Amino acid sequence: MDVIGAVARVNTLSEDTLVRWVDTLISGRSSQDDGLSGALPLGRRFSATWLFLYLGSLLLYYLFASLDYVLVFVIFKKSTVGSKYRANWREIWREIRMSTWSLAVMSLLTTPIELLVQLGYTRVYDDPREYGLVYFALSPLLFLVFSDTLIYFIHRGLHHRLVYRYLHKPHHSFIDTTPFSAFAFHPLDGFAQGFPYQLFVLVFPFHSLLHLISLGVVGLWTINIHDRVTLEVPGVNGAAHHRIHHTTFRSNYGQYFTFWDRVFKTHKDPKQWRSVKLREEEVYGTAAGKGYLQRVNDDSH
Ligand SMILES: [Zn+2]
Ligand SMILES: [Zn+2]
Repeated sequence: MDVIGAVARVNTLSEDTLVRWVDTLISGRSSQDDGLSGALPLGRRFSATWLFLYLGSLLLYYLFASLDYVLVFVIFKKSTVGSKYRANWREIWREIRMSTWSLAVMSLLTTPIELLVQLGYTRVYDDPREYGLVYFALSPLLFLVFSDTLIYFIHRGLHHRLVYRYLHKPHHSFIDTTPFSAFAFHPLDGFAQGFPYQLFVLVFPFHSLLHLISLGVVGLWTINIHDRVTLEVPGVNGAAHHRIHHTTFRSNYGQYFTFWDRVFKTHKDPKQWRSVKLREEEVYGTAAGKGYLQRVNDDSH
């Protein structure tokens, strides 16, 4: 099977093609009709790119967060989160509202870098053979390792007591997360944690189709780590890890892997810490609360 040929053909579905399609939707006429096959005016490209990013991320969020919610919290409820689960519709509505406006601003902040991608100022390339097939095949893994490393340190920075309450606190207002918590961020927080994905294409070559697919996959992963149900894969930061992050604030900062948490001793193993909850005031020192921290083993006795 001609995989490379297939990739090259599918690659006509580039970001530029999609942005031109959105532009046609907005303006009611194609750029070709306007004689703009080579260059879309920057203002028009900017608004089409913003709308493409916003609608794309909203669609991914509404569709897959809903699907994940129905699977985990409705259909497989007893075998996953337990029959004690009660939907808190007020909180879910708050998650959806925060995500919906925040994604609009995050998309706006991301638009300039995506314009650089479309205009050829990044290391995004089109021919799968350009850097060799081995690099082509391994580049998504490099993308994850690079992003995970930077997100670990950015995320730790967001938990610094001088920064936390201004930027990261809204996301941590959701203790018992659902898939709808995935993009419920202060927009600057969400942008900061998404910046490694943008930086990657300025530093490393990345095939244009893999770039688009990878952005979709990292979005899905963000939904997945908020649904409280995890596949226990060694070295992988799953939903059980991220649940501990939401309930104890200063552990399991990683997004995909547990490597940096293990290196800097911020790793908490879900097998031992599953039911521990800390109060935010206690962690950030605005209220005393010694003795609240208990290991899950102590809890169960
Ligand atoms: Zn989270
Ligand atoms: Zn956090």
